[in-house]
Amino acid sequence: MSSATKIHTSKKWTCDHCGVSVSQMGGEKVELPNTWVSSTEGTYCLICRRERAAQAALQAAPEDSPLEMRAKLRRAALIEFEVSRRPDHGDGMIAKACRSSVSAVAAARQRLKLPAPN
Ligand SMILES: [Zn+2]
Repeated sequence: MSSATKIHTSKKWTCDHCGVSVSQMGGEKVELPNTWVSSTEGTYCLICRRERAAQAALQAAPEDSPLEMRAKLRRAALIEFEVSRRPDHGDGMIAKACRSSVSAVAAARQRLKLPAPN
């Protein structure tokens, strides 16, 4: 329990995937940005977290899936990622962030069995 609630601080956070970094000018410790994750798998920025979610969905698809199918899976994975990351945000807001439709977000929310925000 205590390790899960612990606030990660470091002088510098670097995304293991794209190499973008976050640090303070004076070299003071900074908290891990709340859109980032740092786990045993590595440290990833929001953009790479999204990309990893999309890649994971594509890896689960058969290798001979048509391009259109892969694009569809990718879009669905990105929406699911955003809905689970910010379940309290409205469907319209998430749709806008993912450049998708409100109905696609609502469907993803149902797939994930997440309650609708107020
Ligand atoms: Zn990154």
